Amino acid sequence: MRNVVILGATGSIGQSALKVARDIPDRMRIVGMSAHSNAEALAMAAREFPEAKTVISSGPDGIDRLVELATMREADLVLLAIVGTAGLRPALAAIEAGKDIAVASKEILVMAGEIVMEAARRKGVRVLPVDSEHSAIFQCLEGRDAASVRRLILTCSGGPFRKTPAAELQQVTPQMALRHPTWSMGRKITVDSATLFNKALEMIEARWLFNIGMERVEVVIHPQSIVHSMVEFVDHSILAQLSHSDMCLPIQYAVTCPDRVGNSLRPLDFASLGSLEFEAPRKQDFPALDLAVEAGSLGGTRPAVLNAANEVAVDAFLSGRIAFPGIWKLVTGVLQKCPHVENPTLEELFSADTEARAIARSLIF
Ligand code: NDP
Ligand code: MG
Repeated sequence: MRNVVILGATGSIGQSALKVARDIPDRMRIVGMSAHSNAEALAMAAREFPEAKTVISSGPDGIDRLVELATMREADLVLLAIVGTAGLRPALAAIEAGKDIAVASKEILVMAGEIVMEAARRKGVRVLPVDSEHSAIFQCLEGRDAASVRRLILTCSGGPFRKTPAAELQQVTPQMALRHPTWSMGRKITVDSATLFNKALEMIEARWLFNIGMERVEVVIHPQSIVHSMVEFVDHSILAQLSHSDMCLPIQYAVTCPDRVGNSLRPLDFASLGSLEFEAPRKQDFPALDLAVEAGSLGGTRPAVLNAANEVAVDAFLSGRIAFPGIWKLVTGVLQKCPHVENPTLEELFSADTEARAIARSLIF
C-alpha cells in the first residue's frame, strides 16, 4: 500500500490519479490533495476520499501549504501534477523529507532536472516518471542504466497539425490547437503538443530522468499513440511499451512499480488496430525540437529560459495576443536575449525563470 499526496488533484492528471485510486484501492491510498482555483472539484474529491488532507494553493502562502502537504508524515509518494513550475519547491521539500516523487509536471525537470535528480540521489529517494513516454522508457529499462542504452526513442503523436502545410499554421486558432487527435489533457500541454514544445520539453526531461546525453534522445512521429516510447540497447535490440493512450496506466505504474497489478483498463487488440505508423518529425516547420536539443545540450539556465518563455507564449496565444507560429518566435527571441548562466544554483534558476518571463512579456507588447 502506498500513501499518496496528489498536488494538482483537480487537473487532468489529478483526476486520472483519483481513478487509479478507485481502481486499485488495495495498493493506493490518497492522504493529501491540492487544488489551485477549483474548490468545487476538490470538495467533491474530499467527499470521496475523506481521510485525505486538502489544501487550496491560490492564496498568498500557497507554496507553503503545498510544502506542508508534500512533507506530511503519512505520505510516502508525492505525485506532482501541477501545470508549470509551481510544484518545484514542494517537490524538493518532499525529497528532503525522504518521500519518493512521481513527476507528471515535466516543467520542473526541464527547469531544474539536475538539482532535483541530485537531491533525490543524495536522499536515496526515487523520481518516478508519469509522463507516458518516460514511463514507457522506465518500464523498458527495468533498472538498467544509461551504459546499456544506445538511444531513447520518444514517440510523438505529431499533434493536430502533423499534416498542415507550414503556410497555414499562421491561421491556427486556440480552438484548433486545443483539439488533440489522441489524448485528452489540460490546456497548456495540449497547445504544447500542437507546437511540439511538449516533445521538446520531454527530450530534456528524458535527459535528466535517465541521465543520458541529448544526442542519444530521439523523436519519431507515431500518430496512433499506441507505442509510448522505445529504448534501443547497445546490442541494437529495441524494447517498446504499448497500451491505449490513457494516463491511468503510467500513474498506476508509478504507484505500484516494480509490481504489475490488475486493473480495469481496456486491453489492446492488435487485429482491430490494424497498422502502427512511424515517420520523421517536420523539424523545419516545428522548430521546438531543435530549440530543445540546443538548450538541453548547453544546459545551465538555458532549459529554464526555454520553459519559462514557452509558458508565457502559450498564455499569450490562448488569449489571442500572438499567432500560433509566434510561440516559436517568442521562445527563440527570449533565448537570444536572456544571459546564460552555467552551473546555476536553484535561486539562479528562479531568477532566470523570472527574467525570461519578463523578457517574453516585453517582446509581446
Ligand atoms: P491541468 O491544467 O488539467 O491541471 C493543472 C492542475 O494544476 C490543476 O489541479 C490546477 O488546479 C493546478 N494548478 C494550476 N496552477 C497552479 C499553481 N500556480 N499552483 C498550484 N497548482 C496549480 O493540467 P494537466 O493535468 O493536463 O497537466 C499537469 C502536468 O502534467 C503538466 O505539467 C503536464 O505537462 C503534465 N502531463 C499531463 C498529461 C495529461 O495527460 N494531462 C500527460 C503528461 C504530462 P485548479 O484546477 O484547482 O486551478
Ligand atoms: Mg508525454
